[in-house]
Amino acid sequence: MSEKIWTEEELKKVNDSLEGKSPEEALKWGLDNFGQEEISLACSFGPEDVALVDMIVKLRPEARIFYLDTDLLFKESLDVRDKLISKYGIKPERFGAKTNLEEMAAEFGPELWKKEPDKCCNIRKMVPLAEALSNLRAWVTGIRREQSPTRANAPVVSWDAKFKLVKINPLVAWKDKDVWDYIHKHNIPYNVLHDKNYPSIGCEPCTKPVMPGEDPRAGRWAGFQKTECGLHK
Ligand code: SF4
Repeated sequence: MSEKIWTEEELKKVNDSLEGKSPEEALKWGLDNFGQEEISLACSFGPEDVALVDMIVKLRPEARIFYLDTDLLFKESLDVRDKLISKYGIKPERFGAKTNLEEMAAEFGPELWKKEPDKCCNIRKMVPLAEALSNLRAWVTGIRREQSPTRANAPVVSWDAKFKLVKINPLVAWKDKDVWDYIHKHNIPYNVLHDKNYPSIGCEPCTKPVMPGEDPRAGRWAGFQKTECGLHK
């Protein structure tokens, strides 16, 4: 596998060529252009991610997949992880914070997420993500344009200047219905909390159910201005 360095101009052309194509074609471009150890799917066990697990395993059964374990995930999210392992034989790599919850409470006080969620996200998500991405040349995410105004212009393929690697978003153009149609068609395990008014699921202390008609991400960090943990800013 060549160690080609992709320029932003080249990535723009790749993006233009993949715009309007299927998610599998974007995934295939990534798998064909980066070595086995150089590309990985970020999986938070949400609907988009489980759909991408199904797609990527069908294209390359040994594809790398990683997840961020904040030590504050719902049990139901970890159940999805275990069901995916059982169904597809995947070996998702776990990345977590260097400090456990007790150490974080001792340093910053109890329940940091209630006082300073940005600091908590930085410790339990951003630093582990930077570690997960540090040895990669490309990562795959499940973000979609309709999820939030901050994602409305997300490209299929681009240079991720924040983490300094190529970012591939195969599902950017998909609607919520497309995701769920795919999940049901392929009988993919999903988080049972989605059937209980949790459209978007993160850590347990920062995720609330959403009432019909509300923004699907309204249940994330309710009471704060915060809408993103920083992974895709
Ligand atoms: S989502 Fe909440 S609990 Fe999880 S890392 Fe961020 S602030 Fe902490």
